[in-house]
Amino acid sequence: MNATTDYPNSYYAETLGDVPKRSALADNPDVDVCVIGAGLAGLTTALELLRTGKSVCVLEAKRVGWGASGLNGGFVSAGFAGSTSDMLNRLGRVDGREAYRLSIDGMNYVRDQIRDLKMDDVLDGNGEFHVYRQNDTQAVLHECERAKVDLDHDLLFHNTQDTRSLMKSERYHNALYDPNGFHINPLKYCHGLAEEIERLGGDIFEDTKAQNLTRSGVGWKVSTQTADITAHHIVLCTSAYDFKLYPSISRAMQPVATYVMVTHPMAELLDQAITTPASIADTRRAGDYYRRLPGGRLLWGGRITTRQSKPFHLAEMMRRDMLSVYPQLNAAKTSHAWAGLMGYALHSMPLIGQVEDGLWMATAFGGHGLNTTAMAGELIAGAITQGDDRYKLFASYKRNWAGGLIGRAGVQTKYWSMQLRDKFDETVSH
Ligand SMILES: Cc1cc2nc3c(=O)[nH]c(=O)nc-3n(C[C@H](O)[C@H](O)[C@H](O)COP(=O)(O)OP(=O)(O)OC[C@H]3O[C@@H](n4cnc5c(N)ncnc54)[C@H](O)[C@@H]3O)c2cc1C
Repeated sequence: MNATTDYPNSYYAETLGDVPKRSALADNPDVDVCVIGAGLAGLTTALELLRTGKSVCVLEAKRVGWGASGLNGGFVSAGFAGSTSDMLNRLGRVDGREAYRLSIDGMNYVRDQIRDLKMDDVLDGNGEFHVYRQNDTQAVLHECERAKVDLDHDLLFHNTQDTRSLMKSERYHNALYDPNGFHINPLKYCHGLAEEIERLGGDIFEDTKAQNLTRSGVGWKVSTQTADITAHHIVLCTSAYDFKLYPSISRAMQPVATYVMVTHPMAELLDQAITTPASIADTRRAGDYYRRLPGGRLLWGGRITTRQSKPFHLAEMMRRDMLSVYPQLNAAKTSHAWAGLMGYALHSMPLIGQVEDGLWMATAFGGHGLNTTAMAGELIAGAITQGDDRYKLFASYKRNWAGGLIGRAGVQTKYWSMQLRDKFDETVSH
């Protein structure tokens, strides 16, 4: 049974408990749909297909939720990794609002699964704060107004005093609160979805890397190291972890890392810094995101980089970031620190749609994937089973080449310049 040891070392893996280790593909099945990648995009797509009666198998190179889906901050909130105002400009007001609404549906989907499938210990807390390090109340009030007018999204304004009563840091000025946001244990959620997939008759094969895709009759053949699968449809959900299977998709993404640290339990100390059970993210372009975990721990995430190896002093680096906001947590001790990889297209929006006849993609969710993978799963499953064409809302987000290694250097430079601009904005606002 168990076997959590072959997950990257993280708080989530350590607290996962017993989960089944699934076998690798051994025979040559023929299914309606083969989903490649058992992150949240793949798992949600598979589940929604099974619910309409399709035969489905999921191939996963490592373990269920092994990638970003089992390593993330756990924030489930509305929107996308790309900027909302850019999206409204590109799609226009009507389609832009509809895309945003779909992102909220994705968020509600996650909440509904947790409730309906009675997933224990998955929901960690409700509410999400966006905190501002710039001292510019008018700008925050304007943003609150724009969210209402442009997106019909109600956010609650907190002034500096209210903000600092919950997040006791002189770094913060105002905040916007979204009562509908929530935060979860993402690896347990992945396993909850996987269990339901199997209960409905779907197959999940772990340690099974899809190596090659070829056309076969009216459908496709997927080759792995042990056996082949034939399927009418393939859905590619491999994110930043595959470079070969379908090159024009992987070349359209840059793998980008972000980091997370978790402390040992310290409930009393934490009360001196953060008293809200909601999650918190600052609004800088590459800001901090953090939340209280059950048992008095703090999860602290931040930084984005194209560097793919885990920095040697990662835990210390993240601890310094935390202390720069909350010096009163100096006695905190770190228990885990890890890095995870996200797939980013140049436009920072997901790549969702049909690439060739019977070949679909749901990928490139960047740093905002918990709601958008759910949204994409529902859209792709609806397209395959009922001809639902709402996925076409995202058609203008194309698979443009992300520039390979040169592009990676460009993306890193962009992040550095974003960080400098953040620092500058913060300094001039005081
Ligand atoms: C540290 C971190 C913090 C984050 N925090 C948040 C957050 O708080 N809120 C939020 O909304 N988003 C967050 N994100 C982003 C979010 O986690 C991702 O956008 C989302 O999980 C992507 O899901 P996915 O299914 O597309 O990819 P993944 O979860 O990466 O899954 C891809 C899977 O495909 C498998 N695979 C790859 N190639 C093959 C192959 N050839 N054959 C078979 N299997 C293959 C991989 O092994 C992997 O399991 C965070 C990301 C990270 C890394």
